[in-house]
Amino acid sequence: MTRPHAQTIPVWTPPLGDAVPRSLCTDCGISRTADPKRCGHACQFIKPDYPALETRAHGRPRDPGREDEAFFGPYQRMLRAALVPPAAGAQWTGITTRIGARLLETGAVDAVLAMAADPNDRWRPRPVLVTRAADMAQCRGMRMGTAPLLALLEPAIALGYRRLAVIGIPCQIYALRALEAELGLERLYVIGTPCSDNTTTERFHEFLALLSDNPASITYLEFRADYHVELRFADGSHRRIPFLLLPLSKLPGDFFPLTCRTCVDYTNSLADITVGYMGGEGEQWLLVRNARGEELLGLLGNELRTAAPGSAGKRRGPVMGFLKNTERAAGGLPVRGMPNFLRPLVGWLMPKVGPRGLEFARARLEMKAVETILHLRRQEPRRLRHMVPAHVWALVAPYGLTPNEDEKP
Ligand SMILES: Cc1cc2nc3c(=O)[nH]c(=O)nc-3n(C[C@H](O)[C@H](O)[C@H](O)COP(=O)(O)OP(=O)(O)OC[C@H]3O[C@@H](n4cnc5c(N)ncnc54)[C@H](O)[C@@H]3O)c2cc1C
Ligand code: SF4
Ligand code: SF4
Repeated sequence: MTRPHAQTIPVWTPPLGDAVPRSLCTDCGISRTADPKRCGHACQFIKPDYPALETRAHGRPRDPGREDEAFFGPYQRMLRAALVPPAAGAQWTGITTRIGARLLETGAVDAVLAMAADPNDRWRPRPVLVTRAADMAQCRGMRMGTAPLLALLEPAIALGYRRLAVIGIPCQIYALRALEAELGLERLYVIGTPCSDNTTTERFHEFLALLSDNPASITYLEFRADYHVELRFADGSHRRIPFLLLPLSKLPGDFFPLTCRTCVDYTNSLADITVGYMGGEGEQWLLVRNARGEELLGLLGNELRTAAPGSAGKRRGPVMGFLKNTERAAGGLPVRGMPNFLRPLVGWLMPKVGPRGLEFARARLEMKAVETILHLRRQEPRRLRHMVPAHVWALVAPYGLTPNEDEKP
C-alpha cells in the first residue's frame, strides 16, 4: 500500500472496502477487511467473552470483591483529571488526543488510528491514520455516529506500521482485542472512551434541529454529569439545558439504534486507559486499567492536574424510576412521566440532590444494563443468552431483573 501525498495530507483515510450488511452491527470495520468472517468471533454483539479478553488485556477479569469493578471493569486506579491548559476544540480538556500526540512525539508508535470530522459535516466521524503529533488536533471533539475505524488496521500494517495506538469506543475496542493476537503487531496501545446513546449522524442532525433554530451554528454538544446538556455555538455563545427540559418526546422511538440501546460495555473495559467524564464531577474521569495504561498516563507528566474522584447521593431511586419509564415506553425513549410545570424545579434540584461523581457513573451503568435487558427481551430475545455477560445481569439483579432459563449466560 502506498500512501499518497504523505507529506501534504495531514491525516489520511485509505480507500475502504464495502461493509458486509449484518444485523446488530455498528460497522466497526472488521467486515470490510480481507476476512469478514472474523466478525463471528470478534463481535461484541454475537458472543462476547469479557472475562477471557479482560484476562488477556489486564492479566485478570473484573474482581467482584472490588465493588466498583462490577460496574466499571478492571482498573488499577481511578482519577479525576484535567489537561492544563485545556486543548482548544477538545470535547473536555483533550486528554485523549494529547495521549495520541505524546505517543507520536516520543516515537512509541508509528501511527494512531482515531476519528476526525468529515470535511463536509463536523458531526460525522471519519476514521483516520495519524502519523504526526500535531495532527492529533484534528481528532479533537466528539462526533455522533459510527465509522469503520478498524478497517484501517490492514492499510496501516501494509504500510509497515507495526507499533500502533487505537483510540476507540467500546464496540470497536472489543473487536480489536478479540483479534489483537492475530494482527502480528509489535506493540498496541488502546485508549478508550466510554460510549452510550450514540446514533446515526443523520438522526443526530434531527436532534440538533429541535434544540436550535439555527442547528448549523451548534459547534459542541455534551451530556454533562450535572444533568445538563451543554451547547456551544459558532458565535462563541453557550447554552445549558436541563435533561428534563430536552425535547425527547419529539424524537422517534427508534432514535437510538438497537445496537446502542443494548451494548454491554459502557466504560470500555478492555482499553489500557479509559478517558471519560461521567465519574468526574465536572472534570474528566480516568480509569487506568493496566501497566500500559499507567505508561500512557505517565506520558502527560505535569500537563495533567489530578485528584481523587468523589461520590455523593443515592442512585437506587433514579435507577428504579428509569426502569419503570423504560418499561412504560415499550421499546421507545424513556421519557419521564412528570407534569410540565414540575420539570424546571426538578431539573434545578437534580444536580444538587441526585447521584454525583462515582455514584452518578454507577447509576448510568445500571440504567444502561436495564436498557440492554429490556430492549433485547422485546426485540431480540434469542440474543440474550449469548450477548449479555454475567456482569450485566449482576448490575440489574438488585432491581428485580433476573435471567429466565433461556436467558442465562
Ligand atoms: C457517541 C459518544 C458518546 C459518549 N458518551 C459518553 C458518556 O456517556 N460518558 C462518558 O464519560 N464519556 C462519553 N463519551 C466520551 C466523551 O465524550 C469524550 O470523548 C471523552 O471524555 C474524551 O474527552 P477528551 O477531551 O479527552 O477528547 P478529545 O481530546 O477531544 O478527543 C476526542 C476523541 O474521541 C474520538 N471520537 C470522537 N467521536 C468519535 C466517534 N463517533 N466514534 C469513535 N471515536 C470518536 C476521537 O478519535 C478523539 O480521539 C462519549 C463519546 C462518544 C463518541
Ligand atoms: S465485528 Fe464489527 S463489522 Fe463485524 S458485525 Fe460486529 S460491529 Fe459489525
Ligand atoms: S453506544 Fe455502544 S454500540 Fe453504540 S456506538 Fe457506542 S459503544 Fe458502540
